[in-house]
Amino acid sequence: MLSVFYFFNTSITMILILFCLSVFSTKIMHSENSLKAHNSRLSSLAITDSLTGFYNRRFMVDHLKHSILRAKQTGYRFSLLLCDIDDFKLINDTYGHNCGDKVIQQMSEVMQRNVRESDSICRWDGEEILLLLPGCSDADAARLAEKIRFEINQEPVLYQGNQVSFSMTFGVQSYEPCTDYLELIRKVDIKLYQGKNRGKNCVVL
Ligand code: GH3
Ligand code: MG
Ligand code: MG
Repeated sequence: MLSVFYFFNTSITMILILFCLSVFSTKIMHSENSLKAHNSRLSSLAITDSLTGFYNRRFMVDHLKHSILRAKQTGYRFSLLLCDIDDFKLINDTYGHNCGDKVIQQMSEVMQRNVRESDSICRWDGEEILLLLPGCSDADAARLAEKIRFEINQEPVLYQGNQVSFSMTFGVQSYEPCTDYLELIRKVDIKLYQGKNRGKNCVVL
């Protein structure tokens, strides 16, 4: 009688322990999954600009350095596009900062739908955007810039009953042997400012 009672008691205890273990392991699995999801969201936030969804400058500098190294080692080239919204200060001053933000968002949508998955876009500074186009010649990059420039001209932002037209100027620079990434940035920046001096809303190759 005693041994039956002992057996019954042990079995119930074992079942309870197994049940608790399975509940705990399920909970731990859920926590691990949610921690992984949070971590990946944090990693993505750390390299992303919130207004445009583009990469931030810190990420792009690393990516650019890496692309230069790869070009030096393997000959796999790339091109850069540096572009800037024309007279953006005037848009902010005329319609307000929220309208300026909407212009930036619309510009980012046009860019996003025109690039390939392998291209990287970064919010370089304010309303200045840098694109890194792997395996792309300067002529191809200029064609892409022209397409984006044209589409941006066709799509004014609708803001509080106003049609706010805007344009962008583009500098194009393909990879050239350089001492560091700043040298390439300087070159593409010069092209952008040549475009601004030529009357804006254009692509300079
Ligand atoms: P240009 O044609 O020569 O580029 O002239 P611009 O007026 O576009 O250039 P400028 O650099 O004088 O002005 C850029 C302005 O962009 C100044 C800054 O207040 C504004 N800006 C920068 N970031 C943001 C942003 O996130 N939202 C808004 N609304 N404005 C921004
Ligand atoms: Mg500007
Ligand atoms: Mg600017």
